[in-house]
Amino acid sequence: MTTGWRQRTGPIGVLTGAGISTDSGIPDFRGPRGVWTKDPIAELLSTYQNYVADPELRQQAWLARRDNPAWQAEPNDAHRALARLARARTVGIITQNIDRLHQRAGSPQESVVEIHGNMFDVVCIECDYTTTMAGALERVAAGEADPSCPGCGGILKAATIMFGQQMDAETVWAAREIALSSDIFLAIGSSLQVEPAASMCALAVEAGADLIVVNAEPTPYDPWATEVVRDPIGTAVPQLVDEILAG
Ligand code: NAD
Repeated sequence: MTTGWRQRTGPIGVLTGAGISTDSGIPDFRGPRGVWTKDPIAELLSTYQNYVADPELRQQAWLARRDNPAWQAEPNDAHRALARLARARTVGIITQNIDRLHQRAGSPQESVVEIHGNMFDVVCIECDYTTTMAGALERVAAGEADPSCPGCGGILKAATIMFGQQMDAETVWAAREIALSSDIFLAIGSSLQVEPAASMCALAVEAGADLIVVNAEPTPYDPWATEVVRDPIGTAVPQLVDEILAG
């Protein structure tokens, strides 16, 4: 095992996926108890072209948003450990998660890049209209199964990046900046199968970072890693943070 990376003193990049939030009660997609592993049909709900084409799917999507366990979720020890790390070191977090738990744990807003958007805002796919998810869900509760844009009548959706949807270029750029400037790059709780998020690992390594993968299951980027940690994230991440801070 290589331990020398812990002594590196430069910026720390972090890429997080759904696995960091499973201890907060939010299931991941591809883990053994993942939403897609248990119900492959759920994957359809996350594909933009299906969402736009099928009003029934949109109605299901609004109910899934209403029932998302993330509304009740609290940050866990891993989110808090990364916030602690950010108080002592330069840390940039690229998160694939839409749950805002990094910010709620105390990671500075400006240090978190939400590469797949967030579930708390709603956007119109036709015009510039935006509103809060809470506001849109009030309309659903009042009987509108698929609320439309009050401005142009267009389709509303959560401010998340669905499969098949264009990513925001500035957001991808900000993520790349984090990866390219890192001495240490921690990839935590992601199956590393979704691009371009996963390729941030390669970018970081090619720019000279040590990649540390923390994930229960193998990932395609394990061969790129200086160290792979299979222990549960809730204990592994606080321990890694302690070790980095100890130098
Ligand atoms: P994924 O579901 O593909 O992979 C999660 C990985 O985390 C799995 O390999 C699993 O084995 C591992 N894992 C889960 N709990 C763990 C634990 N306690 N300890 C160690 N490992 C653990 O997740 P992904 O790579 O993030 O891709 C899923 C996509 O779905 C992302 O784009 C994300 O935006 C979205 N998503 C977000 C949330 C959220 O916001 N919390 C939840 C589900 C899905």
